[in-house]
Amino acid sequence: MNNSIFSFPIPANEPVKSYQPGSPERIALDAELKRQRETTIEIPLIIGGKAIKTGNLGKVVEPHNHKHVLATYHKAGEKEVKMAIDAAMKAHKIWGETDWRVRAAILLKAADLVAGKYRALINASCMLGQSKNIYQAEIDSACELIDFLRYNAAFASEIYAMQPKSAPGQLNSVEYRPLEGFVLAVTPFNFTSIASNLNMTPIMMGNTTLWKPSTTSILSNYYLMKVFMEAGVPAGVVNFLPGPGSVIGKVALSSPDLAGIHFTGSSSTFYGLWKTVGDNIAKYKSFPRLVGETGGKDFIFVHTSADAEAVANAAFCGAFEYQGQKCSAASRMYCPKSLWSKVLKGIQKRCSEVKMGDVIDSENFINAVIDEASFDNISKAIAYAKKSKDAEVVVGGKCDKRVGYFIEPTVIVTKDPHFKTMEEELFGPVLTVYVYDDKNIEKALEYCQTTSPYGLTGSVFGQDRLACDEISKKLRYCAGNFYINDKPTGAVVGLQPFGGSRASGTNDKAGSSFNLMRWVTTRAIKETLVSPTTWKYGYMKK
Ligand code: NAD
Repeated sequence: MNNSIFSFPIPANEPVKSYQPGSPERIALDAELKRQRETTIEIPLIIGGKAIKTGNLGKVVEPHNHKHVLATYHKAGEKEVKMAIDAAMKAHKIWGETDWRVRAAILLKAADLVAGKYRALINASCMLGQSKNIYQAEIDSACELIDFLRYNAAFASEIYAMQPKSAPGQLNSVEYRPLEGFVLAVTPFNFTSIASNLNMTPIMMGNTTLWKPSTTSILSNYYLMKVFMEAGVPAGVVNFLPGPGSVIGKVALSSPDLAGIHFTGSSSTFYGLWKTVGDNIAKYKSFPRLVGETGGKDFIFVHTSADAEAVANAAFCGAFEYQGQKCSAASRMYCPKSLWSKVLKGIQKRCSEVKMGDVIDSENFINAVIDEASFDNISKAIAYAKKSKDAEVVVGGKCDKRVGYFIEPTVIVTKDPHFKTMEEELFGPVLTVYVYDDKNIEKALEYCQTTSPYGLTGSVFGQDRLACDEISKKLRYCAGNFYINDKPTGAVVGLQPFGGSRASGTNDKAGSSFNLMRWVTTRAIKETLVSPTTWKYGYMKK
């Protein structure tokens, strides 16, 4: 038996590759994009390590070319969800007692497989299936995904090493047990890395999962599941269940063995899951851990001392990269009147320089939004702004779904701080700006704080560092990730632990050891070296 006391060091973050034309990574990626585009694969469920086909099929299409079918996938029904629960519970017995260093080794192997042999496969599937350009795929489905896996080994080392002291005559320890039951991992379309992490963090700590992937990221998620298996994740530890959320959620949430939900997605879906857990609470063997990272209405607050060019750049990149479909994407901005025309010119210039289209053409900075429902929702909001007397569309605004779900980067300016798109999450390339009178900054700060229910990310821009500090204090609860003179997107694992509160989630900080702690239930053990044999206390003596 290996009795070493071993700890995994904090790793370096995975470097972002350049994909310059002619580079080895570009040649491999181009070949893989071609291969995936020319084949239509069939995606089964994977339960207890076995491929299961239900015959109830759905299609995976390219959002930027929606007639092109990349895959068909089998949908889980009630029977398969029950099978997956049985498989997860069976695997729990072995996996929960597997040496944690072996579990870490499997995660590290998965990281190395994605970093090397399968980098092109995972990136290409993310580009085609989720409409990301090369850079957006690389920072997500390669770098962030790898970082989550590698950092988890180091975070687990830190957690297991956290032990209480022992008083004379006793030995104390804390055992970090996995939760008693299975974890339901419900994952979003927009980050392949998050889909991976919502499973791999609980399993690092000895849990087993039912993985409900988003129906619009099934291609990359399926390939990833196969990488997990090749890395050594045993049968039943992660069970891959594409299919309707309502069916999968209903069966999984009514099981007495539900020990936790690891969710990322919209606030409304999480409210629904939380409510169902509440309704079923007396059924469960333990109180399920509910960890959810949800929506946002992320802001940029501009102080009069800000550098207008830096603001324009942050607004452009923060609001429009990956078509604004990052939970952290800037979607409202408060800008002083004295800077607005310069900032607007800067955004307009950048928007006029970018191209929009298919992910295969690397000149396209902007690609498509994820699906028709999302396209319709965003275009409706833009049409509403165009008609409204309180708003004006000053950049972009065109929407076209004939070939792909394309929406131009759009800026709306409003006189109303309560305008619909200043308050409600809109998951697309739309930034709404409220221009405030320079002397009314306090009022603008109050609007920023109070008009939206979310608290995910936000930035302040200003050269006056003391003013930025004041603003940071006033906006203390408005963002779980706050930036000074930077865009509100782009958190990196291990550097900026990610998550927000208010309606944005439980703020359990993905990419930090705080999150791993949610997937253990500790047992404190005290051993008395020489047990006492008398019950009498000294004070009782006459
Ligand atoms: P979504 O809520 O539509 O879907 C998320 C997942 O929940 C999907 O797998 C979906 O199939 C599933 N689902 C839906 N209804 C369900 C039900 N009744 N039972 C069980 N599962 C169900 O979200 P989305 O469109 O995939 O992602 C976009 C949202 O995610 C945005 O609101 C965004 O802000 C949020 N998001 C947040 C973070 C964060 O860290 N805070 C990160 C990424 C995305």
